[in-house]
Amino acid sequence: MQLLEDRIQKDGIVMEGNVLKVDSFLNHQMDITLFNELGKEFHRRFADCGVNKLLTIEASGIGISCITAQYFRAPVVFAKKMKTKNIVGDVYHSRVASYTHGKDYEIFVSKRFLGAGDRVLILDDFLANGEALQGLISLCRQAGAEVVGAGICIEKAFQPGGDIIRSQGIRVESLARIKSMSAESGVEFC
Ligand code: 5GP
Repeated sequence: MQLLEDRIQKDGIVMEGNVLKVDSFLNHQMDITLFNELGKEFHRRFADCGVNKLLTIEASGIGISCITAQYFRAPVVFAKKMKTKNIVGDVYHSRVASYTHGKDYEIFVSKRFLGAGDRVLILDDFLANGEALQGLISLCRQAGAEVVGAGICIEKAFQPGGDIIRSQGIRVESLARIKSMSAESGVEFC
């Protein structure tokens, strides 16, 4: 999506360790006018899939999911990151290896908010190694919910996540796909 690619070129900063910093518009300060366009585009791509629920992971996915949800007229459920080691209550849970923080964490969703019969669109800001998506897909499988697809703002296509998730037969739609990036030469899109 040209609008997002242009914004990444303008305001994205390539950091050490293959990390793209987009905190001025996507995941710290949030440009809601941009989000609105991204939300419309996700809706355009998944409009005929019978989506009745959006699922994301705290914290970065929540903003974009809320804006997108208005187009689907569906609720947003966000997987919470476990604050304690003990799993309390009636929840689905899964383990995720964090790309940006370099350690594992548990995520959970209450069984009240995900179940058989749900047609779920998963949304997230980035797709890198696919760990976060894999964790969210696992929550859906535990719940017996159908994953209709995953909508990603920025896919780092030089990392394996996209291939891994697509090879499971899951539709992944990424609004910007990065072929390569470096501090010296900047960002190149697919
Ligand atoms: P994955 O689980 O696919 O390896 O990584 C996805 C998660 O890691 C996203 O939810 C995102 O928060 C974070 N992430 C991965 N790569 C980047 C990056 O280049 N920049 C930023 N800001 N976050 C990233």
